[in-house]
Amino acid sequence: MTRELYKKLCCPVDKHDLEINIFTKTEEGEIIEALLTCPQCHRYFPVIYGIPILIPDEYRDEGLEKPMLKKWGFELHEGDGNNERRLLKE
Ligand SMILES: [Zn+2]
Repeated sequence: MTRELYKKLCCPVDKHDLEINIFTKTEEGEIIEALLTCPQCHRYFPVIYGIPILIPDEYRDEGLEKPMLKKWGFELHEGDGNNERRLLKE
């Protein structure tokens, strides 16, 4: 994923601009692993193998996301309402 693509992305739920934490990128500046977070609804969307995973709540697979988040030093905390999930830095 390039920086230009990142700038075009928005939260699929509320269309808010996303913030980014970049973990891995190539020498050319292409983003390989990153975490996109929405400051509005606090959802998070991983970037894996350069692909931003902007999927709705009902299709998410925590089993896939958890090891990635752990590797990046984040922990998943389930919210108690409307599928809201927050991340805490370990
Ligand atoms: Zn949002």
